[in-house]
Amino acid sequence: MKIIRARTVVPMEGDPIENGAVAVDGNRIAAAGNFADVSASHGGEVLDLGEVILLPGLINAHCHLDYTMLRGKIPRQHSFADWILAINAHKAALGETDYVASIAAGLTESQEFGTTTILNLEAFPELLPRLPRPPLRTWWCAEVIDIRKSVDVHEVVAALREWFRSHPDWLGGFGLAPHAPYTASARLYSDAAEVSRAQGVPITTHLAESAEEMQMFRDASGPAFEFLKGIGRNMDDCGNRTPLSWLMQNLSLDERWIIAHLNELDSGDWELLTHGAKFHIVHCPRSHTFFQHAPFALEKLTVLGFNICLGTDSLASNSSLSLLAEVRELLRNEPWMSPRDALEMVTINPAAALRESGSLGKISAGFCADLIAVPSIASETEVFEKIASFEGVVPWMMVNGCALISS
Ligand SMILES: [Zn+2]
Repeated sequence: MKIIRARTVVPMEGDPIENGAVAVDGNRIAAAGNFADVSASHGGEVLDLGEVILLPGLINAHCHLDYTMLRGKIPRQHSFADWILAINAHKAALGETDYVASIAAGLTESQEFGTTTILNLEAFPELLPRLPRPPLRTWWCAEVIDIRKSVDVHEVVAALREWFRSHPDWLGGFGLAPHAPYTASARLYSDAAEVSRAQGVPITTHLAESAEEMQMFRDASGPAFEFLKGIGRNMDDCGNRTPLSWLMQNLSLDERWIIAHLNELDSGDWELLTHGAKFHIVHCPRSHTFFQHAPFALEKLTVLGFNICLGTDSLASNSSLSLLAEVRELLRNEPWMSPRDALEMVTINPAAALRESGSLGKISAGFCADLIAVPSIASETEVFEKIASFEGVVPWMMVNGCALISS
């Protein structure tokens, strides 16, 4: 048993605890509360972290570790289709060794910024055997695309299941990520949904991200339409629909889905959202700003009951993997939000999206011992604001009961 003391413990349930402590037994939290109470009821070595705020490790609900090396490489383009062409040109020059290095760099950077859990969309799941054991709890969601050749998701999942069965020390797991309605067929989506449901693994996708994706499905025109037609996609499904209605016509979108973006919605889409299943949504504030997408309807979606999480997206459209920087960007764009609400979007909400509400995202008895500390600066600002404003490398972190030292 270890007792970790901090000036303030922010469990993300109930109020912050001054002079707080967390008792950790192995890889689980045994208790959290006032230092005097926790140390009286739980014996063990005391680690006093001093003037810090201790909170649950942050959870990144949408990330592409593969493209960490593309930071700053792709300037803002005239169109989303141009950006896809630019990233494809860079990707063509990269080999497996580059991607392995990129994933490792992304994990290190995420760790430095206090992320303990990542939902990573992995375009190259075959590279997992070349990686050292990741320091963070990572869900590797195999990103599948079938414009040019068909994909058997049963095979993809069987390989991942075998990998995780033989590597029980890897924290997290695997899932599926049909890329987007413009790159993954209706068949691929329904196969992925079926496999994910049968095996109980997460499923995520990109949807209604750009104006050009909307234009492609609604009007059968525009740069994305022309680009995808040019590379051989069958465009018969375009015209008279929206990306959301395309997806909902092709499968029953249930509450298990984790949908990234959802920026482009028309009035018919709002009808569908009002009456349909309340899936999880990931908003990527800084990537959104980079692409200058239409405003994200955070308040309206929240009122309808959607669980909204934050993600960094990849460094091909962002400058760092800091989730607290995403929180700050969100608070700049949505001044009505409280810092506490925004922090829930990188703790409690993504834990629910991963169906880990009983083990991640809070400091509570029985939860995984995934903790981070940020300095408690002496100021009158309230504690959630102090956390949101922290910009550096986190001074201390624990994942699954083990303290990690940032290099
Ligand atoms: Zn993405």
